[in-house]
Amino acid sequence: SKANGGNNFHFFDQKMDNQGHDYLNLINDLRQAIKKQEFFLTYQPKVDLTNKKIIGAEALIRWQHPKKGVIYPDQFIPEAEKSGLINEIGEWVIKQACLACKDWITAGFKDFTVAVNVSSQQFKQDNIYQVVKTALNNAKLAGKHLELEMTESLLVENSHELKKLLQDISLLGVHLSIDDFGTGYSNLSYLKEFDIKTLKIDRSFVNDVENNGKNKALVKAIIQMAKGLELTTVGEGVENQQVAELLSDFTCDYGQGYLWSKPVRDKDFIKFIHSYAKP
Ligand code: C2E
Ligand code: CA
Ligand code: CA
Ligand code: CA
Repeated sequence: SKANGGNNFHFFDQKMDNQGHDYLNLINDLRQAIKKQEFFLTYQPKVDLTNKKIIGAEALIRWQHPKKGVIYPDQFIPEAEKSGLINEIGEWVIKQACLACKDWITAGFKDFTVAVNVSSQQFKQDNIYQVVKTALNNAKLAGKHLELEMTESLLVENSHELKKLLQDISLLGVHLSIDDFGTGYSNLSYLKEFDIKTLKIDRSFVNDVENNGKNKALVKAIIQMAKGLELTTVGEGVENQQVAELLSDFTCDYGQGYLWSKPVRDKDFIKFIHSYAKP
């Protein structure tokens, strides 16, 4: 009925308004969070599948919200991207991660690397090259210790500018990785175009690889293709020994997942690597 339609419309209208309101609240909170340094990083170790030694870690951001407690990235990174605040947050992440990696090296883990997630937006800001270079200089960290994880969606553009930018970043010694590989685009020609070093095989394929025949075939094929292109591979979301063994049988180079460790709070990470016992 007309009345119902009216009600529905009113309800819809209010909901839209609330969503807009929530979004603005979140953006304001994020601005405050940047100012008050409410973010912290956790590090999840990456292990060599042949000897199970830790070779480095991925930085994963958390937000210690004053009222809501710890907030995970899926709850605020999309909004940070939409609002452009990701550039400032991302710059902080790169800087902190470089400093942390320097600390690990100083603590005796001299070949460790740190991987940072970089949103597509960050590659579109004009100073990302300078941000990376400054963070490395500031931490006195060689570029080869830093890895930038990007998603396939960035690379399908295949523009001249992007190619040049990633080339310049590579020339700093920094490694470029494709995150969540296999979930994005079917056109893989970008793999030849850019200086990519590593494919991180998405957790959705890896997680149940031991009892899902299709995922098994996919993971095996991705690793084989990567070998042919001289790319290294990382299996994400490894939760048990069978998966680790299967990846290793397929000649996947590295693994990451709860089998070895959940992400560890920044200040606890050195203690963690000292006490790490291979499972
Ligand atoms: P991602 O880069 O794919 O990171 C892997 C996610 O899987 C992390 O979630 C990690 O905690 C989780 N994980 C690791 N091992 C396992 C496992 O064995 N099993 C399961 N079920 N999960 C596992 P987290 O920390 O919540 O991060 C979610 C996403 O947020 C990340 O996905 C990344 O895309 C984004 N993110 C995190 N930190 C940053 C950042 O500093 N900047 C940007 N732009 N994005 C970030
Ligand atoms: Ca990642
Ligand atoms: Ca991933
Ligand atoms: Ca992901």
